[in-house]
Amino acid sequence: MSITENSPCKIYIVDDDEQQANLMQAMTKTIQLETKIYTSSIEFLKVAVTEHDIVILDLQMPEKDGIEIMRELASCHKKPNFILVSGFDERVLHSAKQLAESKQLNVVSTLSKPFKAKVFIALIKATHEKCLENYLKQQNNPAIDEDNQNSPTIEELKLALRKHQLIVYFQPQVSFNTSALQIAEVLVRWQHPEKGILLPDTFIPLAEKHELMNLLTEEILMLAIKEYKKIIAGGLDIQISINLSAQNVSDLSMPEKLEGLLKHYDIDPKSITLEITESALMNKVSDSLDILNRLRMKGFSLSIDDFGTGYSSLVKLYQAPFTELKIDRQFVLRSVIDPDSKAIIKLCILLANELKMKTVAEGVESKEIWDQLQSMGCDHAQGNYIAMPMPTDEFILWVKNQ
Ligand code: C2E
Ligand code: CA
Ligand code: CA
Repeated sequence: MSITENSPCKIYIVDDDEQQANLMQAMTKTIQLETKIYTSSIEFLKVAVTEHDIVILDLQMPEKDGIEIMRELASCHKKPNFILVSGFDERVLHSAKQLAESKQLNVVSTLSKPFKAKVFIALIKATHEKCLENYLKQQNNPAIDEDNQNSPTIEELKLALRKHQLIVYFQPQVSFNTSALQIAEVLVRWQHPEKGILLPDTFIPLAEKHELMNLLTEEILMLAIKEYKKIIAGGLDIQISINLSAQNVSDLSMPEKLEGLLKHYDIDPKSITLEITESALMNKVSDSLDILNRLRMKGFSLSIDDFGTGYSSLVKLYQAPFTELKIDRQFVLRSVIDPDSKAIIKLCILLANELKMKTVAEGVESKEIWDQLQSMGCDHAQGNYIAMPMPTDEFILWVKNQ
């Protein structure tokens, strides 16, 4: 069967074992998805794959093996979504996946041969839907394309700060047990006069690179406080969590500044959680521990964000006074299709329980994911299945309608 030429998300099966390839093709056909088979790795390397395509790749191939294929694709900036397949044991697949990710290649999942048709079909279906969704998102918002010539410049961002073009959205976090709203995460947006609403991924890395994060965070804190006051005035009794960057946890005077600001607006630090990523704690450990401990002593809660993605160190987790562990959405999203992700989540929850920390799963996008994480004993859920990030007024309405 040939692939539909104009499909934005093509599916390629690259496997020298023709029988196995035909079998996979037949399985994907049951969900009305067309695929193209390559039994020669050399031939496959001539294909112009895109970041929206899916490549089901056998690791053991005679001419060039799966690892070589990934290396060559990465070197010419071809970055499709891989599903790695192998007859070797799970550890080989796992390590191939790590290798791919170190080259910024996206490995959606791995499969050990032989695998069950049901598992394979569910995986292809979910991956295809996700790729299609990403494709449509990019069509509707070209600003999320990293290589987009249109991406903002640092001068534009500085101007945006002066002109107060940043705004904040709120995304609810609810209890898995009671579904009650506990806290909302503050997420920044840039209301660009020409480009519309820009997501943080298009400008936070830029601000970090140009050491503008302290200024940016000051602005976000002011916005968050003002909007939080509106939420309280709207009669809601909730807490908020705010993201901090690496540059924010290297300023030793930050805890006092933050405390002073909250005092000025009559807000109790006990209502505020500060989210910090693991990688933000890499530099100057003693300074960051100094800052984190003083924040805790002043009453702030501390959350370790994107847990499992950075340079996870158990020592750091043990040393720093975190009250909450936020399981990264990449694991949560894959938890229903990838046993490795599920295993990591299990360990995160176990670890958090041992250290008396609350667990939050972000990226809860579907009922299936909700059920999975709930059954694993996770405390709180955040994600599009519950609600997308919203501006203040919409957020207040949402809470009142619950
Ligand atoms: P994060 O801290 O991990 O924030 C959660 C991100 O997950 C948000 O993306 C949110 O919109 C998204 N998300 C929530 N539920 C789902 C879901 O069900 N599925 C999927 N696929 N995604 C979901 P957003 O708002 O684009 O923010 C991206 C990142 O930018 C944040 O990741 C955070 O690292 C950074 N960021 C956002 N606001 C701030 C801020 O005020 N200060 C700093 N320093 N960083 C911020
Ligand atoms: Ca966060
Ligand atoms: Ca996160």
